Amino acid sequence: MVLKLDPDPLQAIVAHAESTYPEECCGLLLGSADSTSNAVVEVKPVENCWSAEPALPSELRQALTAPVESLDKTRRYEIAPEAMLAAMREGRDRNLAIVGIYHSHPDQPAVPSECDRQLAWQHYSYVIVSVERGSAIEGRSWRLDANHQFQPEKILQSSSAEMPSENWERMSMGNGRSVSQKPVPHYPV
Ligand SMILES: [Zn+2]
Repeated sequence: MVLKLDPDPLQAIVAHAESTYPEECCGLLLGSADSTSNAVVEVKPVENCWSAEPALPSELRQALTAPVESLDKTRRYEIAPEAMLAAMREGRDRNLAIVGIYHSHPDQPAVPSECDRQLAWQHYSYVIVSVERGSAIEGRSWRLDANHQFQPEKILQSSSAEMPSENWERMSMGNGRSVSQKPVPHYPV
């Protein structure tokens, strides 16, 4: 499975992720899907409407590593169902479907949390951007396998050869700036 993500939509994700720091950003990936890939045509930023107030399912509550009261938008995101529906409706006219969701991890690695995993849906690509001190340093895409576990997903640009890894740490951002020159540490998946 691969995610086709060109520099322009990628840049939109990065700009959104940096603008909401230190809070998490979130948004939808609109495009088309086939049996091997999700192709992003357009990025739709949406508001992070997370609130610690609403009752969480008890199994999710147990999965959280920090007390619910201490979790705010710096550690969680939520997309309103109305925003999903609006994007679906909007995309339908142009033959675009929701193929994934992106969000940022301020000062955290671009690795899904247990909460991310539990709330994830099959077939979507989950792009996570790690933002360190306000700058996006790494982005990775993840997709659920048949056991509802996240597996890394390759990110490809339509116009060029396969990227060197499942993240864009060496990818040019189109404005001469590289997201990060630093070697990316490996995190347990
Ligand atoms: Zn997350």
